[in-house]
Amino acid sequence: MRSKIVAGNWKMNLTFDEADEVLDKLMTNLEEHAALSCKMIVCTPYPYLELASDYSGDSYFEVGAQDVSAYDKGAYTGEVSAAMLGSMEIAYCIVGHSERRAYHNESDELIARKVDRLLENDIRPIVCCGEVLEEREADKQFEVVKRQVTDGLFHLTPEQFGKLIIAYEPVWAIGTGKTATPEQAQEMHAYIRSLIAEKYGKVVAEETSILYGGSCKPSNAKELFANPDVDGGLIGGASLNADDFMAIAESLK
Ligand code: PEP
Repeated sequence: MRSKIVAGNWKMNLTFDEADEVLDKLMTNLEEHAALSCKMIVCTPYPYLELASDYSGDSYFEVGAQDVSAYDKGAYTGEVSAAMLGSMEIAYCIVGHSERRAYHNESDELIARKVDRLLENDIRPIVCCGEVLEEREADKQFEVVKRQVTDGLFHLTPEQFGKLIIAYEPVWAIGTGKTATPEQAQEMHAYIRSLIAEKYGKVVAEETSILYGGSCKPSNAKELFANPDVDGGLIGGASLNADDFMAIAESLK
């Protein structure tokens, strides 16, 4: 059975004190509510990884980073390596987010190298894919996502692929308040699963968690998560509010 997952992507938000406050509230919520039926991951900016890890301990939620260098180590000022994350026992890392593709010109080839570095260091990549509005309007969404998944990920062995979490995030829905309909999400998730099945077989495809991301909030999470191929969500804005993030996690059964 594949895992149900709710992952928060804090992006470049919150001061240290604000981060501390959100984590503190999240812990209170987790302690007060019945156990979740999904795995919760919080992907913070690098400076807050240790704080989040201290809060999470071994049990309540897991901690992830939002990006990683494609290089091993050395003279790459400002970069953070997968080995560094691994040495802090960070278990997850987002790669290929549309904001990195758009503002940092990240290609599928670069994303493939980042995925390799993470896997070498036993960190599970949360790999984002998704089309921009013009591509959706031109009915090119399947072509675009196929290219991203194929060029970014299909060099992996089946065993390596089994470590991935995929996040389908239509770029037109990220931070815009415009959510994909449950039908649009299901259609694309089923398509991604069919690509995986074609390349790696049905078992790997059935075991891969595919998350939806894009303006997911407490009011729409339930109907998005009710789809058979939607295994949870990658949550941006709503993950900055501990109550909203908790409510989203609770709607994933
Ligand atoms: C994201 O950036 O991964 C995301 C899904 O953002 P939001 O939920 O704010 O649309």
